[in-house]
Amino acid sequence: MYGKGILKGLGVSARHFIETYLDDIRWLGRKRYGSPEGIAHRASKKGRGIFTVQYPEEKVPVPEEFRFVPFLVYESNSNGDKSYRCTSCGICAKVCPPQCIWIVRNSDPATGRPIPDPAEFYIDADICMNCGLCAEYCPFDAIKMDHNYELASYGRVIFDKEKLGKPVAYYESIRPANAAKENAARAAKEAARAARAD
Ligand code: SF4
Ligand code: SF4
Repeated sequence: MYGKGILKGLGVSARHFIETYLDDIRWLGRKRYGSPEGIAHRASKKGRGIFTVQYPEEKVPVPEEFRFVPFLVYESNSNGDKSYRCTSCGICAKVCPPQCIWIVRNSDPATGRPIPDPAEFYIDADICMNCGLCAEYCPFDAIKMDHNYELASYGRVIFDKEKLGKPVAYYESIRPANAAKENAARAAKEAARAARAD
């Protein structure tokens, strides 16, 4: 029946309309939803109604599993030197569906033999489709999906090793649950290795 369908549709619209203002009233006197806390609430499952944010001044927080163009994880030693986890094994480049990863493996200057270290690492961010397969397949937790989605540019965006590199602390800050799981697994592996060596 057309009449019932129209009424049902109007009812849904009216509910969303009213809920939008109910949330405003619930938050009255507290920080408005324009604050980071308010935006996080309205973007969560608890949020009701419809809301907009004044982007780029306001941003909706992204969930931990949100993924954008990958980055390379590095550790820093006491001198501040970067040590990339990447061993230039090439697995990520092989599994990347649009083939937008290029890696040049380093070599030992004395022998000329390849060593497990990337001399160069490029990702064409214009081609990357943010699928996350590179991060899924990397056996060394060396490449991870980023949360930074503000990459719009008038030119071609190709990231080199320097631009792709981000410290472990950054990874732990954007993906705390994943990082904790991986750190625990790594610690268990190390403990098992040490026990075997005894
Ligand atoms: S990022 Fe991971 S999968 Fe890709 S080359 Fe480096 S170690 Fe291999
Ligand atoms: S996220 Fe997907 S498309 Fe982007 S570099 Fe990784 S595998 Fe390739």
